[in-house]
Amino acid sequence: MPNSFQPEASHFIGGAYVEDTAGAPIEVIYPHTGEVIATVHAATPEMVDRALEAAKTAQVDWAAMTGTERGRVLRRAAEIMRARNRALSEIETHDTGKPLSETLVADAASGADALEYFGGLAGTLTGEHIPLADGDFVYTRREALGVCVGIGAWNYPIQIASWKAAPAMACGNAMVFKPSEMTPLSALQLAEILMEAGAPAGLFNVVQGRGDVGGALVTDERVAKVSLTGSVPTGRKVYAAAAEGIRHVTMELGGKSPILVFDDADLENAVSAAINGNFYSTGQICSNGTRVFVQEGLYERFVNRVAERMDGAVIGDPMDETTTIGPMVSGRQRDIVAGYIAKGAEEGARLVKGGKVIEGAGFYIEPTLFADVTDEMAIAREEIFGPVMSVLKFASEDEGIARANATGFGLAAGVFTNDLTRAHRVSAAFEAGTCYINAYNLTPVEAPFGGVKLSGVGRENSKAAIEHYSQIKTVYVGMNDTEAPF
Ligand code: NDP
Repeated sequence: MPNSFQPEASHFIGGAYVEDTAGAPIEVIYPHTGEVIATVHAATPEMVDRALEAAKTAQVDWAAMTGTERGRVLRRAAEIMRARNRALSEIETHDTGKPLSETLVADAASGADALEYFGGLAGTLTGEHIPLADGDFVYTRREALGVCVGIGAWNYPIQIASWKAAPAMACGNAMVFKPSEMTPLSALQLAEILMEAGAPAGLFNVVQGRGDVGGALVTDERVAKVSLTGSVPTGRKVYAAAAEGIRHVTMELGGKSPILVFDDADLENAVSAAINGNFYSTGQICSNGTRVFVQEGLYERFVNRVAERMDGAVIGDPMDETTTIGPMVSGRQRDIVAGYIAKGAEEGARLVKGGKVIEGAGFYIEPTLFADVTDEMAIAREEIFGPVMSVLKFASEDEGIARANATGFGLAAGVFTNDLTRAHRVSAAFEAGTCYINAYNLTPVEAPFGGVKLSGVGRENSKAAIEHYSQIKTVYVGMNDTEAPF
């Protein structure tokens, strides 16, 4: 294995790589081979302090720049990121195990979209003028929050870092970002790119570490906002810790999203969406449609067709561009998924396809299809975060909606039907942050993304993200004499 994935140092603070080997070593494992491809060190309290101080200092001058100037830096960063797409994709594939066929189009590319979009928006951010009686008026100023902390999951490392950093910086904030300890590499690349694009030193800092480093960041009094992408249990902890200091939060958490396929749906489209929505990124996507409810008239045909199409999956070396299913991110995650598959079979679901761990050095497991799943089974209730599709049968629209919503999660939901009014009725009834009609799992930067219920708080992407990275100051202007009772 070439040593080219070893970063210059573990952290990126104040515009430069910084090392502190006093922190516990974290090995970066290539999921295809199980080999160690790099080692970084967890941030010591001194590193955390330096990163926050650098961000605090950089933020003041950054916020004083015009939005257009800030936007120019972000747009330049988007261009550099696009120019380096292949190298960044190779890093991402080695860090996560996701096939290169995906990382080439979905990871840095999506990060660049966010930088470009929020770069464009930066110059348009304004307050408003509110006329009042007798010439008095109010104007509002849209101001930055200050230092924001971003904490990422391991499934889309550079995308998550960019989705958080871009709107934060557009609004005049600085950021300290902690990647998942499983995927520490690409956020460092984003930091380098931003510097090259002209961002001031300290505007975007990266510190490595596990949950304790995240915890130290979240509770620091210099921090105004915390944006987490992670699981619901972590979300609960981070939200509670942030609440101690009344900090703003964005929580992008897990899901167990439903797809309702009605009898009148286009079968091939629905099957394609279910395949993408369960097996893309080897199933490691928060908004995956892991409960596929199919109406009874189409049910058997749907199950058979998914099974047939699964024969076309190309499982193997993620660096081979024809591969469509790579390894799981870690042996631990593979074992969790294998545990759920065993439970599904035990609880009586029909194993139609897959289900086996693929022996070898890499963390592979077969894409798996369960039919005849019922609502109370663990595979229908809990987030598996792996390539396991559960198909459930339903009869009426009301029943389908009620069962789709009978979950604590509320990230995404999809409906496949050719009945125009039903599509909108069902979308309105879904308890989910993002709904799809005859499509699934598309997350363009122009559209708000986020969850309801346990799946989260706040929205990423789109103009909606601006609300979560800025605050409004009200300035009342008196144009008349001030009266007092005495
Ligand atoms: P985790 O919740 O395990 O971790 C998320 C991040 O939080 C990691 O960087 C983790 O560090 C850190 N962390 C853990 N404990 C704490 C703590 N007490 N204080 C501060 N930070 C902490 O999630 P995974 O990395 O396993 O990612 C998978 C989850 O993320 C799934 O539930 C998935 O649905 C969700 N997700 C949600 C998305 C969305 O947009 N809604 C998108 C992608 C994923 P470390 O890894 O070092 O422990």
